[in-house]
Amino acid sequence: MSALELIGVTKVYGRGAGEVQALREVTLAVEPGELVAVMGPSGSGKSTLLTIAGTLESASSGDVLIGGMPVSKLSRNQQAAMRRRAIGYVFQDFNLLAGLTAAENVALPLELDGVSTRTARKAALEVLDRLSLSARAEHFPDDLSGGERQRVAIARAVVGERRLLLADEPSGALDSVNGEAVMRLVRSTCQGGVAGVVVTHDAQLASWADRVVFLRDGRMVDQTAPPAGPESLLQADAAR
Ligand code: ADP
Repeated sequence: MSALELIGVTKVYGRGAGEVQALREVTLAVEPGELVAVMGPSGSGKSTLLTIAGTLESASSGDVLIGGMPVSKLSRNQQAAMRRRAIGYVFQDFNLLAGLTAAENVALPLELDGVSTRTARKAALEVLDRLSLSARAEHFPDDLSGGERQRVAIARAVVGERRLLLADEPSGALDSVNGEAVMRLVRSTCQGGVAGVVVTHDAQLASWADRVVFLRDGRMVDQTAPPAGPESLLQADAAR
């Protein structure tokens, strides 16, 4: 079963003369463990695709299924529970809370979902460890580098049993070395069974994905496996 499925999704903003078709009949399935990059010019509908996939907005027509469940059949409360438990979001500007340590930031989504402080902290420390951030767990965001902050934001997005990771230009504010590190992390997180959708402008970073989809004027115009990325070259080397 696909972790995420968009079937003929159209999104229209505004009405009459001011109407904008942000997405037109977009169909896309993302499997557990798969990372899909979304590319396209500014205004082509990339962010709209993410917000609809994340149930932050509803489609004007078409279906969105998460874990096989049509979102339109869920009540608003059920959709909210799905956003809290199943979906992780990463944005360009990190959005970490400055008054909380890295571990507290990562634990927060679980605590907001009613998990005890102790259990949430344990889960947060486990994720930080997996992302090689144990040494930074008690640091505040201001004491972390940009790359570290984004890695903490990714840890926060995948803590608990998330099935879907949605990232809008997660490396947009980073230099190329940190950008690569963030994509490498997203890639390895997905290999653990999470389905990922990442918007990026950068073809080099998109090459970390299993598949790249291209949007133009709200339409999916192409879908391709990228040329062998740096990681696949390493794997090929190791296999020799
Ligand atoms: P991208 O992420 O590729 O830059 P967006 O998904 O942000 O594109 O936007 C796609 C189109 O939808 C653009 O024409 C944009 O102006 C329009 N749009 C996006 N969000 C809204 C909104 N909340 N209200 C009206 N128009 C919007």
